[in-house]
Amino acid sequence: MSHTLSPALRRELADRVRYYNELGIYDFYRRAPAVQESVGNPAAAGIGSWLALSTAASSTELHSEAREEMAARKSAVVAPVADESSLEAHAPKPEYAVTDPVAALKIIREDLGECTRCKLHKQGRKQIVFGVGNPCADLMFVGEGPGADEDAQGEPFVGRAGQLLNNMIKAMGLRREDVYIANVVKCRPPGNRTPEPDECDTCSPFLMRQIAAIKPKVVVALGATAAKNLLAMNLSLGELRGRFYDFKPAGVRSNDAAWPGARLAVTYHPAFLLRDPRQKGEAWKDLQMVMKYLGLKAQKPDA
Ligand code: SF4
Repeated sequence: MSHTLSPALRRELADRVRYYNELGIYDFYRRAPAVQESVGNPAAAGIGSWLALSTAASSTELHSEAREEMAARKSAVVAPVADESSLEAHAPKPEYAVTDPVAALKIIREDLGECTRCKLHKQGRKQIVFGVGNPCADLMFVGEGPGADEDAQGEPFVGRAGQLLNNMIKAMGLRREDVYIANVVKCRPPGNRTPEPDECDTCSPFLMRQIAAIKPKVVVALGATAAKNLLAMNLSLGELRGRFYDFKPAGVRSNDAAWPGARLAVTYHPAFLLRDPRQKGEAWKDLQMVMKYLGLKAQKPDA
């Protein structure tokens, strides 16, 4: 049915389906289309070595600009997550039968199989990069898609950007194995191009199922592609950063009715930070917002 509809109409219909589900018409979840502000004036203390290339001057300017920008956003309203998969949201998923996140992720991986659902399967991928980390993580990072290193090793964020992400995680007082890391698309786009909308729409339901299985407290979207797909909002990264969103993965429900959903924060993709280290101060501010919510203490540099 949905294939004859425009993307905008599909999203609108998906929103409506979710609305009905929120009223309890289907055995689904309730999603509050609300936004919450949380950024104050994060101090620079505790910034890890990954920030070393960010100059104090540029950081100060950016903080000032960001504060103005965030102040202007306080009345913003966020539309619910929606994509085509939401139209099939009431279809039960096989992992609903289990409560163990490890077992649930295994079921989702088996369901994905040697996937040929989108054209990325025939554009040079070596393997599917499903996700890695703690299946019970409180914190989940979501990137765009695998690059060459990730495609070769079968694990997300293992190249230079992955090293920077590791340092960011360490600066938050965590280890890589404490969090879960995945991407919107699980096959490498050729030439590291941005995944196309149809590829994201086809693959992201599996990401949504992963999130529902893991039930994190916070999801951090790394970069615009991840943010736009998770939030179903076509805004710039600058417009999306700087606040928490109430988030429940579209098209699925958690097997734990008590899971209230996650808070979602948006920050820069580590690959972008490698190209423009001046933005590391802004990214650190995003991470501090997450740390404050999770009660994490910053790791001292070189600790
Ligand atoms: Fe399947 Fe996702 Fe790979 Fe496309 S990107 S072929 S949907 S696993």
